Amino acid sequence: MGNLTGKTALVTGSSRGIGRATAMRLAREGALVAVHYATGEEAAAEVVATIEKDGGRAFAVRAELGVPGDVHQLFLGLEEGLKERTGTTRLDILVNNAGVMGGVKPEDTTPEQFDRLFAVNAKAPFFIIQRALPNMPSGGRIVNISSGLTKFANPDEIAYAMTKGAVEMLALHYAKHLGPRNITINSVAPGITRNGNPLFDIPEAVEQMAALSTFNRVGDPQDVADVVAFLASDDARWITGSFVDASGGTLLG
Ligand code: NDP
Repeated sequence: MGNLTGKTALVTGSSRGIGRATAMRLAREGALVAVHYATGEEAAAEVVATIEKDGGRAFAVRAELGVPGDVHQLFLGLEEGLKERTGTTRLDILVNNAGVMGGVKPEDTTPEQFDRLFAVNAKAPFFIIQRALPNMPSGGRIVNISSGLTKFANPDEIAYAMTKGAVEMLALHYAKHLGPRNITINSVAPGITRNGNPLFDIPEAVEQMAALSTFNRVGDPQDVADVVAFLASDDARWITGSFVDASGGTLLG
């Protein structure tokens, strides 16, 4: 029996990358996992199928974040899926993982691009938490995926890093608010982590990115998923409001 048996979890953006690895890890620990996606319907279905093949429980939920009505749509699918499988809409674990990168120099960033980054990366997590809290019992867990770029300068990602700075505020202030309800909230900051970006197919680029970590490799999604799973577990009951550096030592300088 895993340490999350009987728990329910929502992992946003879990059709790919870190979210996918997190959904699979939480399911392996016994949680019923809502695999959220925006465009990757097949990818999300594949995550659900893989979890079920391994004996876990999951279902897919579609909602594009960063557009009007996004959180409403997300919770329609989430609550329907939870009710069908558990008879209630109780949500024990929320992982705000879905995010978009900028990759545009500050001098070229348009107001529209800036607004889009904030809408998906910062506004959506805020309102997802707001909507999730009435469903979250004592012992609930919220983990927000930030980025090492809140502490590591990269002038090409200023607007993106600003969104992650905003995300980190959720843990600090909500931790105080949610302590009396015995709910924890923390930020996890990955460093460069292998995802579907074609950059990871170029050996020279991977070598350069790997050199940023003290372990001289790029992160795997599982490296981050394992940290999230710990924070989602009962073992992490005394940790709240914290910033967890999951960058493989990149932030050591
Ligand atoms: P990927 O690009 O591999 O996957 C992004 C996920 O988020 C997908 O499931 C995607 O859904 C979903 N998503 C993206 N935009 C939206 C949207 N508008 N609405 C709903 N869902 C959306 O992400 P990573 O695994 O690389 O990153 C995950 C998190 O980690 C992000 O918050 C990112 O900022 C952060 N991070 C990543 C790092 C890295 O090096 N990879 C480093 C530091 C932080 P779909 O495909 O279905 O559209």
